[in-house]
Amino acid sequence: MTDPNPATIAIESLTFHYREGHFHLHIPTLEIDAGAKAAMIGPSGSGKTTLIHLLAGIVPADSGRITVHGTPLHQLNDADRRRFRIANIGFVFQDFALLDYLTILDNMLYPYRINRALNLTPQVREHAIRLATMMGIEDKLKRHPHHLSQGEKQRAAICRALVTRPPLLLADEPTGNLDPANKSHILQLLFQYVDDHGATLVAVTHDHGLLSGFDRIVDFQAFDRH
Ligand code: ADP
Ligand code: MG
Repeated sequence: MTDPNPATIAIESLTFHYREGHFHLHIPTLEIDAGAKAAMIGPSGSGKTTLIHLLAGIVPADSGRITVHGTPLHQLNDADRRRFRIANIGFVFQDFALLDYLTILDNMLYPYRINRALNLTPQVREHAIRLATMMGIEDKLKRHPHHLSQGEKQRAAICRALVTRPPLLLADEPTGNLDPANKSHILQLLFQYVDDHGATLVAVTHDHGLLSGFDRIVDFQAFDRH
C-alpha cells in the first residue's frame, strides 16, 4: 500500500477539552510517518486515550488541524468521520471489548455486521479464519469470550481490528492485561501486520521494556494540559 502523503498523521495547533471537567489538550504539532510504529507514553490522565479517540474521529477537535491518512478530520461531520473510521482504522481496546454473547469468529466478523459499507463475503470469512490461525486461536473460533484466557481474548480483539485490513492501527494499551511473554508476542503480531501491509501503528503503552521495538516515541509530557 503506498501513501502519497508521507505523514499519515499530521496535527497542527490541535485543542480539545471535554464538556465536563478541567482537562484541556493542546498539541502544537505532531507528525507520524506512514509505516511508522509509534508508541505513545506519558502519565495516566495525560490525554493518550483522548488523542487516540481524536485520531479515530470518535471525538472532534475544538480547533486546529488533524489530518489522518490524507483526510482532514477537522473538516468532517460526525457521519463522515464515522465513514472515515470504518474505511481506515483498526481499533484495539485495552479491555478487548469482545461481546460475550457472540462466538470468537462472530466477534471478529462484527465490524461487517454493524457497518453497511462492509460486505461479509465467504472470502472475508476465510480471511478471518486465516488471521485466527496466525494468532494461534483457530481452535477457539466457536467458543465464547469467557472461555478464553486474557492473552487469547487480546489476540481475538486484535484479529477483529485487523480483519478489515486497516491502513492505520490504533491500540490503547494493547498489552496492558497480559503477562510478559504474551506482551512481547502480541506486539510482534502487531508489528508483523504493519510490516506486511505497509500499515501504520500508534500504540499507547506503559511498558517501557517494550519500547525498543517501536521506531517512534511520542511523549505526552511534552504537551500542554491543565
Ligand atoms: P490517559 O489515557 O493518558 O490516561 P485520558 O485521555 O483517558 O488519559 O484522560 C485525560 C483526562 O481527561 C483525564 O483527566 C480524564 O479524567 C479526563 N477524561 C477522560 N474522558 C473524559 C470524559 N468523557 N469526560 C470528561 N473528562 C474525561
Ligand atoms: Mg488511557
